[in-house]
Amino acid sequence: MTILEQKLSFDRIIEKVESARLRVNNHHIVKIVAASKYVDADAIASLYAIGQRAFGENKVQDLKTKSETLDDLPIEWHFIGSLQKNKINQLLAINPHLLHSIDSVELAHALNDRLKREGKTLRALVQVNSAYEESKSGFSPEEFIDQYEQIRETCPQIHLQGIMSIGAHTDEENIVKKSFETTRKLFEQLKGANTCSMGMSGDFTLAIECGSTMIRLGSVLFPKG
Ligand SMILES: *Cc1c(COP(=O)(O)O)cnc(C)c1O
Repeated sequence: MTILEQKLSFDRIIEKVESARLRVNNHHIVKIVAASKYVDADAIASLYAIGQRAFGENKVQDLKTKSETLDDLPIEWHFIGSLQKNKINQLLAINPHLLHSIDSVELAHALNDRLKREGKTLRALVQVNSAYEESKSGFSPEEFIDQYEQIRETCPQIHLQGIMSIGAHTDEENIVKKSFETTRKLFEQLKGANTCSMGMSGDFTLAIECGSTMIRLGSVLFPKG
């Protein structure tokens, strides 16, 4: 793709985000995190050049490599994948802007211990498995609020900002919508939360209409060819 084609395609996505958010209301703001796992540092740099600032990776090693390569750009890095406990040190060394995916109390405690030792804090979201899919991580909707509160109370180095979920993996819009509505309802019960991270390339307009404040877009932002 030429730079002009890339810019036009990016503008079309921004317009879709814009009209979806206006269907919620004028004040509803949605942030785009570019999920850059499919692409290399050059492709990230070209999307940065046309205005995208937040990028997310789902593997700690890729986040490390790409953030080091692009060290001269003030990119806001997010970690959106499942975090294994043995990768905590590596992740914290990168000082990511936001961790989207706390999916167990043990992980939260391990993070908190390490953060405390290093005198650091970390912004994070807690993941909910609102589609009840076995292949997905996250707390069940029923246990979510209690577990979130427990993490918030026992892990002072983790500054919880809200909730993250992956929409139901199906073409049936009603089922996807239901999983987003479940996530949004939980988000509204959280004290002091500001981020509801849901919506990907295939379902971001629906996610926004259901109240998402942060969408994670991969394939639509980095079309092949
Ligand atoms: C890859 C990824 C995305 C983006 O997926 P697309 O369907 O390509 O937009 C969003 N969230 C997570 C957690 C991902 O791993």
